[in-house]
Amino acid sequence: MQPCIITVAITGSLPRKENNPAVPITVSEQIESTHEAYEAGAALVHVHVRNDDQSTTSDPDRFAAFLEGIRRHCADIIVQFSTGGRSGAGSERGGMLKHRPDMASLTTGSCNFPTSIYENPPALIRELAETMAEFGVKPEIEVFDLAMLYNAAAYLDEGLLSGPLHVQFVLGIRHALPARRDILEFEVAKLAELMPEATWVAAGVGRHQIEVNRWSLEMGGHCRTGLEDNVRWDKSRLAASNAELVGRVADLCGEYGRSVASPAEAREILGLESQPA
Ligand code: MG
Repeated sequence: MQPCIITVAITGSLPRKENNPAVPITVSEQIESTHEAYEAGAALVHVHVRNDDQSTTSDPDRFAAFLEGIRRHCADIIVQFSTGGRSGAGSERGGMLKHRPDMASLTTGSCNFPTSIYENPPALIRELAETMAEFGVKPEIEVFDLAMLYNAAAYLDEGLLSGPLHVQFVLGIRHALPARRDILEFEVAKLAELMPEATWVAAGVGRHQIEVNRWSLEMGGHCRTGLEDNVRWDKSRLAASNAELVGRVADLCGEYGRSVASPAEAREILGLESQPA
């Protein structure tokens, strides 16, 4: 099986004070946390940026500051910007793509989140996908519900997206798909039918993080971890850092006969340039 690409989702959108003081908020905290996670085995970082009051923002300057800083500290890590809905509305969600990160998230449909609607209308999906293509940014297709997988396949067929795609299956968000292994197995089987060249990663939210990591390792997928998805290590204590969560997955890789992908290996698996622009 392929080496496992460990994605670290460092920050998300939850306020630190109500959750975990280890969540990095400022750009310099984010760079430091990413650097530690990189040294623990992360090859890809998924990034949201925050305002000083901890709320998420789509401010392109903050994304640019992160990108510039991280390139100085860990030059070859794969940088993926979030175009998610918690950091802006409509076109502004793609305003940072001009800074040409290696990748950006692209959710190919709408669904409910725990207390909100995650709105991704067709025109916005199209606009974000076109902007990613314009700036040479590889999308990571975020699949929170099954229709999003079929939508991605349709976009690939019509040429809005170009393959091979990298697809993330997200499990365990209330009102979307539950964290069940049979659901992940079904998704992976359909992915293999629809786009046999695609690569995949799965994310389990909250207490499901580690079991989804284990399923992914066993099934040949890649793993996502980090404080965005899991502010608590388990029910009893807080994770000390993103690096601690990455280290936990790196340790698990050996149990499943997988090696941890270096950034160079991850770039090759994902079809990215061997060095960032
Ligand atoms: Mg995110």
